[in-house]
Amino acid sequence: MENSAKASFSGDRFWANFLTFSKIGALSQGGVERPFGSAEDLEARKYLRDTCQTIGLDFQVDAIGNLWAVMPGSKDLPMIAVGSHHDSVPQGGRFDGALGVLAALETLQALKEGGYQNRHPLALVSFTAEEPNPFNLSTMGSRTVAGRLRKDTLLLSKDWNGRTLQDAIRAVGGNLEQVEEARKNSSELGAFLELHIEQGKRLERAQKPLAVVTGICGIYRLEVTVTGEANHAGTTMLTDRHDAFLAASEIALAFEKMLLDQQQDELVGTIGRFEIFPNAANIIPGSARFIVEIRASSVNIMHEMAALFQKEAQTISARRGVQFQAQVILDQAPEAMDQFVISTLEDVSTKLKIPYDRLFSMAGHDATHMASFTKAGMLFVPSIDGKSHCQDEESRLEDIVLAGQVMIDSIIQLDQTMDTNS
Ligand SMILES: [Zn+2]
Repeated sequence: MENSAKASFSGDRFWANFLTFSKIGALSQGGVERPFGSAEDLEARKYLRDTCQTIGLDFQVDAIGNLWAVMPGSKDLPMIAVGSHHDSVPQGGRFDGALGVLAALETLQALKEGGYQNRHPLALVSFTAEEPNPFNLSTMGSRTVAGRLRKDTLLLSKDWNGRTLQDAIRAVGGNLEQVEEARKNSSELGAFLELHIEQGKRLERAQKPLAVVTGICGIYRLEVTVTGEANHAGTTMLTDRHDAFLAASEIALAFEKMLLDQQQDELVGTIGRFEIFPNAANIIPGSARFIVEIRASSVNIMHEMAALFQKEAQTISARRGVQFQAQVILDQAPEAMDQFVISTLEDVSTKLKIPYDRLFSMAGHDATHMASFTKAGMLFVPSIDGKSHCQDEESRLEDIVLAGQVMIDSIIQLDQTMDTNS
């Protein structure tokens, strides 16, 4: 069973693939835009399918549109999957998600070329719609695999323009009517590994090329509507107004203060999406719609903050004579990474003499949902200047090559140590 074949992560081949992939949805300032369901999403999927098939992997699309490319194993054992997502935020960078998918591709190709005889089936996975999207369902693919999204929720889901999710999923090769088939359990999927950019400055500050992730923050999102009174912007006295924009603005500033007052590093909040109606220069805004997001390392703090926000927003709304409504659209608990996988990643890094840090992730990832039913682990490479979700996002190839090698050797170690009784 033991085989000592050596597989090396090729930086040159990874980089060539990465540059080609980065042209899909390329923007003028070096970033990419590949939102879920777009023409660029379809093109990225086609590229991955063609590339995986060329190197002889068994390529499949599941019912939610996740891409799986499998290298069969010599034993009937649970699969070990490695991957991330290929979609991007609007005006995003080249590395978020794509790094993990293309590193997974290089990992499997290197193992194949090195003649490694894997016991477990090994798979590349690229999840559908990891980033926030018009359907308000981020990490859609991994949540579905983990059985954390209901079929009826998915079937009823529409974007803000009325396009059904079913329509968007069919366009990427899935079908929500069969969405239960995309679900996996730990006897089918034994472990999941994800390589990702850090999206912060902690590794750069620590001058380490690599981090083993210990856990991932919880994320809570509310869709808020503030309803005031639209009226003439000239003839309505300032004291007679119920301006939805101003009320929402006061609520937003109160939200920031409430979070700052807690003085906790692992607690943050954002209002990143905001719309006013009718959005005309000569009309007092009649309503405002926005998304409030809270992230925390503790589920209790996250829920306490959500309750406090609603209380303060109600008080402000009552004083300004507007109506406040909020609907929970995401309530995702923090998740710890698997201890066995963490030890494997650390052991391999030590053997390769690569200095590493341990980090708790304040960014959400597909690994959060994988961790709910299988052994999940993550590696981070440094983000230059900590920049992410913007076109300046950048990581060094030297760091990626080190992390890629840790990924390859960790997969080999997991393949040889997991399920050894079988
Ligand atoms: Zn990502």
